[in-house]
Amino acid sequence: MTVLASGSKGNSTLIASSTTRILVDAGLSCRELMKRMKAAGEEPRALDAILITHEHQDHVQGMAVTARKLGIPVYLTEPTHRAWVRWMTPQKRITYAEWLAQRQAAGNRQQATDKVREQQGTGCRAQGKEGGADTVQAESSGRCSADVATEPDEEEKAAVEEVIAETAREPERDPTSLPSVEYFRSGSGFRIGDIAVTPFTIPHDAADPVGFVFEADGVRIAIATDLGYMPSNVSVQLRRCDVLMLESNHDVDMLRDGPYPWSVKQRVMSRVGHLSNDAAADFLEKGYDGGAAYVVLAHLSENNNLPELARISAERALRDRMSLLANHLLLAEQDRPMGAIVL
Ligand SMILES: [Zn+2]
Ligand SMILES: [Zn+2]
Repeated sequence: MTVLASGSKGNSTLIASSTTRILVDAGLSCRELMKRMKAAGEEPRALDAILITHEHQDHVQGMAVTARKLGIPVYLTEPTHRAWVRWMTPQKRITYAEWLAQRQAAGNRQQATDKVREQQGTGCRAQGKEGGADTVQAESSGRCSADVATEPDEEEKAAVEEVIAETAREPERDPTSLPSVEYFRSGSGFRIGDIAVTPFTIPHDAADPVGFVFEADGVRIAIATDLGYMPSNVSVQLRRCDVLMLESNHDVDMLRDGPYPWSVKQRVMSRVGHLSNDAAADFLEKGYDGGAAYVVLAHLSENNNLPELARISAERALRDRMSLLANHLLLAEQDRPMGAIVL
């Protein structure tokens, strides 16, 4: 397992068995993904598939270009695919500048909606998968709720420019085309090569978000990021893991005292937002079986967290269960790949 990037600006993790290689999320531009894979000693051409957790930009930015360049299938749920296609479709008809302007306007609309809801006292935008939360998300900037910027960041611009360049080379190309799409359903396991994949539903403000458990060669790896709280269906999946990649998104005090508008703070803290350091620690202390060789803290907020705060709270929760063989604590980073975890 190699975490290529983790955080609100882009997420991607490589899971490999002796014969199969899967990219989980492609939230960086294709070029950056390739660069990081090579830096981590991985050959992009050896990838067999891309798996997607949900349609937020920090998880899909480089998905289409990477899949097309490598000619590999993308595995996602049908609602996630639909939400992504809805989000991508305007690019077909407008210029890059117009598209950015539209996104900015969508971001402003979202802020206005939040404001109205805040005034109405409803505050939290998404109420779950029903009730239009996914529609709002699809029409807004498609970002994780942890990230409030309305201006696209550098990595997002790079990803968009790749699509524009591709379209210039091949004007007939539909930006939503993928070499092949494989639908899976949360709760129903499937295989890619010799890796068994079990997707499970997570509580997050996207169309149909999932986490994954991977099993191959007797090794079990779980990825659970982008979840507002730890429901029992998720904690059950995280048992008996050799590697547990767990969100430790924000420090509650930093978020509360930080610069975000109150509506956004509420969204991040809501049951479809992100897991705080405290919530992650609470799970590690009370809900986790303590059996993993490695615990990887992931999706740390740049604005509302510090790596040391996340580490200290997880260390406190794991306490005497940490040893050379068990619960080795690692922090995934936004700007560079983490060393490979080999089991
Ligand atoms: Zn998200
Ligand atoms: Zn995310």
